[in-house]
Amino acid sequence: MSKINGFVGRRNFLKLVGVGSVGIGASAVGSVLLQGEPAIAQKPTTTVAKPQPVSPQKALERLLEGNKRFVEGKRLNPHQSKLRLEETAVAQYPFAAILGCADSRVPAEIVFDQGLGDLFVVRVAGNVASQTAIGSLEFSTAVLGAQLIVVLGHAKCGAVIAATKGDPLPGRIGVFVEEIKPAVERVRKKTGSLEENAIIANVQYQAEKLAESSTILRGLINEGKLKIVGGRYDLASGKVTLLT
Ligand SMILES: [Zn+2]
Repeated sequence: MSKINGFVGRRNFLKLVGVGSVGIGASAVGSVLLQGEPAIAQKPTTTVAKPQPVSPQKALERLLEGNKRFVEGKRLNPHQSKLRLEETAVAQYPFAAILGCADSRVPAEIVFDQGLGDLFVVRVAGNVASQTAIGSLEFSTAVLGAQLIVVLGHAKCGAVIAATKGDPLPGRIGVFVEEIKPAVERVRKKTGSLEENAIIANVQYQAEKLAESSTILRGLINEGKLKIVGGRYDLASGKVTLLT
């Protein structure tokens, strides 16, 4: 049984996703999925020590420490050297995954003060747990070994605001807005700012959707190898506040 990041290997992952290990189709899926995976036949030009998996709690601490540095103007800009570039060209071991909004003001590596190979980031307007986002997060956890997913919403999120209004939208903009509407309905009658309440409700709703609609993610949670947490990013202060 091959192990990646001390975790689940190629064969197990394919089993997990219901793809057999025989047949042209399966091997094609495997080779496409696993490009960049460390457990490949070719010898890398640089050797990289395989790190221990980072526990959900440690990963969260690392992110919050990085965010604190960012807020205080004390960024270290870690893991951005030429050496890190060479190391990560061989293999990646992200210690956390982020499902964040595509908003230009919320770049995960900057607000958490991380570098190359640290975070597996899925960004889509409104941080919605779309099918493709879920698939990406399954890959980041089951194959790459990340044990933490942070669903990160933010103040003044245009996608959430659009969902509160419900106006017709051009092109495919309405596609992700539709995925936010169930969250808005949860708080429509709640007192206070609908916009603010909806931003928080949307983070919680998308986090629930990840765990409920993915058997892979749910399985990892049950094994204690994954934690999903929600956070809200404040555009003015740069601070990430965890949501419970
Ligand atoms: Zn947004």
